[in-house]
Amino acid sequence: MAKSEWSSSGARSSYKKMFGGPLCYCKKRTSTAKAWIDDNPGRRFWLCDSHGFVDWVDKEEQNEWQKQSLLEARGVMDRQREETKNLKQLLRTTCQEAPAEDSTALLLEEGSKLAEEKEKLEIALITSVEKKKLLRQFIGLSWGGFITTVIIMAVIMVKK
Ligand SMILES: [Zn+2]
Repeated sequence: MAKSEWSSSGARSSYKKMFGGPLCYCKKRTSTAKAWIDDNPGRRFWLCDSHGFVDWVDKEEQNEWQKQSLLEARGVMDRQREETKNLKQLLRTTCQEAPAEDSTALLLEEGSKLAEEKEKLEIALITSVEKKKLLRQFIGLSWGGFITTVIIMAVIMVKK
């Protein structure tokens, strides 16, 4: 499997050491580079510093599935780059909106405090209503008791 050996960097550097790049017509030694065009994604070619493309390193055209997987890998990298960019943008926007967020939190806190106070007031109201009821019952009872006592005393006094 010569193809898979190509993909490891060790094989590539030993290839370079052993064979070097072919000479460009300008007599400069070429180096390898990878093509990221849709027709030949990841296909390596000899690159002259002055003249660019000289020749393909990988002579064979890539199989369709290899092409596809390389294109997909490139798509994933592009998406990740895009997502990273978006996240950075979002972070920057969030940082700028931080004060607004704080005031929202304050409002919410104030709101919950008000709700708490209202609840306390309601409890106090209910308690006072209960107390009034109890007081009325107590008064009613004591009136009843008073009247009963008066009647009993009257009966006793009459009997005497
Ligand atoms: Zn050249």
